[in-house]
Amino acid sequence: MHVAVLGAGSMGHGIAQVSAMAGHTVSLRDVEREFVDRGLDGIEGNLAGGVERGKVSEREMEATLSRIEGTTDLETAVSGADLVVEAVPEEMALKKEVFADCESLVTPETVLASNTSSLSVSEMASALEVPGRVVGLHFFNPPHIMELVEVVIAEQTVGRTEAFAVEYVDDLGKEAVVVRDSAGFASSRLGVVTGLEAIRMVEEGVAGPEDVDRALRLGYGHPMGPIELGDHVGLDVRLDIAEHLREELGERFRPPQLLRRKVRAGKLGKKTGEGFYRWEGGERVGVSGEEDASDGGER
Ligand code: NAD
Repeated sequence: MHVAVLGAGSMGHGIAQVSAMAGHTVSLRDVEREFVDRGLDGIEGNLAGGVERGKVSEREMEATLSRIEGTTDLETAVSGADLVVEAVPEEMALKKEVFADCESLVTPETVLASNTSSLSVSEMASALEVPGRVVGLHFFNPPHIMELVEVVIAEQTVGRTEAFAVEYVDDLGKEAVVVRDSAGFASSRLGVVTGLEAIRMVEEGVAGPEDVDRALRLGYGHPMGPIELGDHVGLDVRLDIAEHLREELGERFRPPQLLRRKVRAGKLGKKTGEGFYRWEGGERVGVSGEEDASDGGER
């Protein structure tokens, strides 16, 4: 089938990659050619890493890349698509606009999916002529590694759309968890509360970022600590989600001042080279504000 992915950022390029690896043809659309190219480069880099680690064959890499087309034109991206997955920034107005623009260009059967981490999928569907085609497909970062996809069922989602979404996730070789549309679904709600508390602990001087991360990795078996995970996700994305969950669920999601300061300073994590950690070429090289720090080999 043909999958259109809208937004070639942290998530979009990964979703395009896993879709193409499953044999689907893919259009990857962003608003500027530069962003499209960055997404395509990201996919090539991920696949090259897979080849190096013996997880992906050279032939699989070539075949995957040949199935992906980058574009800045929405019509080119979505016409003929069986599935559109939007991965544009976490703003309700933007997501509604993107879906409305798509609806006029796709068939009535095309499924429109949102990769939102926390916004109401029912609200996104509400403005459409065929709202039953909308579903949440909440991938985790990075999509080519993480196995879980939350399939979020809006009030309007019809059975065919739900079945289509679950089958698509199965085809990717990933695990679907079906959840009702509610603020933060299952995973964001749990992940964000842990992430915010971890930042508060750093803010209060309880421990530094590396020790907080180590505590959850070694004490609770998390594969990655919550501070480092925030740098991967993007601190701006984290802040937006926390603000939204605070509105919906209350003060326990109030973002710490330290998180706001990082975002105001443009220290957004891995994508800008600095967040709570410093990053070079996608690798963690130290702690922000500690120029000589090394990570001591702890990952
Ligand atoms: P990002 O900022 O890295 O990428 C968003 C991309 O969308 C940018 O390249 C931007 O230019 C592009 N864009 C903006 N308007 C567009 C439009 N009209 N059409 C096409 N592209 C457009 O953001 P991200 O981290 O990839 O997040 C995208 C979505 O995925 C958000 O809803 C976010 O909540 C969700 N999400 C993020 C993560 C994460 O870890 N970053 C995890 C799960 C879900």
